[in-house]
Amino acid sequence: MLKNTEKTMEKIVALCKNRGFIFAGSDIYGGLANTWDYGPLGARLKNNVKDTWRKRFIQERKNSYEVDADILMHPKVWEASGHVASFSDPLLDCKECKMRHRADNLIDDFDPEAHADGMTKEEMFEYIKEHSIPCPNCGKHNFTDIREFNLMFQTFRGVTNNSKSIIYLRPENAQGEYVNYLNVQRAMRAKLPFSIGQIGKAFRNEITPGNFTFRTVEFEQMEFQTFCKEGSDTELYDYFKEYGKKYFEDLGLPAENLRFHDHEKLAHYAKAACDIEFLFPFGWGEINGTHNRTNFDLTRHQEYSGVKMEYLDPETNERYIPFIIESTYGLDRTVLALLVQAYDEEVLDAEKNDTRVVLHLNPAVAPYKAAVLPLSKKLSGKAEEIRGELSKYFMTDFDETGSIGKRYRRQDEIGTPFCITVDFQTVGDENTPADNCVTVRDRDSMEQVRMPVSELADYISERIKF
Ligand SMILES: [Zn+2]
Repeated sequence: MLKNTEKTMEKIVALCKNRGFIFAGSDIYGGLANTWDYGPLGARLKNNVKDTWRKRFIQERKNSYEVDADILMHPKVWEASGHVASFSDPLLDCKECKMRHRADNLIDDFDPEAHADGMTKEEMFEYIKEHSIPCPNCGKHNFTDIREFNLMFQTFRGVTNNSKSIIYLRPENAQGEYVNYLNVQRAMRAKLPFSIGQIGKAFRNEITPGNFTFRTVEFEQMEFQTFCKEGSDTELYDYFKEYGKKYFEDLGLPAENLRFHDHEKLAHYAKAACDIEFLFPFGWGEINGTHNRTNFDLTRHQEYSGVKMEYLDPETNERYIPFIIESTYGLDRTVLALLVQAYDEEVLDAEKNDTRVVLHLNPAVAPYKAAVLPLSKKLSGKAEEIRGELSKYFMTDFDETGSIGKRYRRQDEIGTPFCITVDFQTVGDENTPADNCVTVRDRDSMEQVRMPVSELADYISERIKF
């Protein structure tokens, strides 16, 4: 196996484009910076990851409920959450070349030990001046003042121009769960601790470029909020850190490529915060964040909405505003981590310079679970019949062109865990009766077993479980 640091993003990006996983957004118009479209295989992979998350976080847990809240929310939500006032990046422009930069990135790139995230706007400005940090684009040192640039996307609603009011595209999903906390608690007669999860899109108007789908302006999150009584919060926080790491390991990210990063500098509302980072070819990057948000969010919503957010404890008759433990999974980042981890180049025969590119994806998330390959086009009828039957259970591909070796390689490259070869024995002829068996080839070991067609669905279903 190649180490992740030996893999290159160029090759992974090229495979994603050529094999239909991920395309540049608005490609025919030259693309739109930091936007990406998932192709047929990428969309499957992404949906399969969502399914694994739903299984672990909703289906297998007690007192765990999924919601699907709207992206557009009442503007007061973002005042209550603090996003209107303080969700911003410190930006400055180069007066020479007009390039816009994030002040903290300028400093951290100049000296990684400087820790710009602990500095005020004024301190950052002084530091940049004092060290004459040059513009990374033109090399000159001539900057504007630092301005706070709000990261929320704004739009307007209203039928007539003068009735328009500001609406934001949500910068995080969490508020959709918080504003529905009372609705869910009452409708489900939920007792603390209980959780609300949600998968959905969020938007951030960032100027920082990307590393492919790692940092984008539009992205999808899988979020999990656990409402609990103060006092049980620390234990639940520790629990969800480990639960998240276990989830990633089950998906196929090995422990040596995962690490916790505990935050020393905390957001104003947080009691504790920790990221799970994954080792990408471009370095360690956050793929999950777990936060102890205390009772900050519900307290603020009570204040701004005027609606009581208290929970009546049926055992003690106490009334209190619950604490929240949040664990957020970046869906696009998880997909990218899985692609990076799965990507491998295996030398099969060094003398013949024969190498195969293979995605060792967990079968549970692989876009296609099986491909049906007739050895000859004369066998296509039978192969189509088998594919039709299997497609009732899972996604199945069909390929009848090129040599069987080439077809195996095409499936290896997109991570299909099983190739099913239909040959002349399967259907028989005048002299030999049909054996109704096929050959099943394993993607990783490349070993083959022969089995009756009637056992295929069970054999594969058993091996793609999460
Ligand atoms: Zn410049």
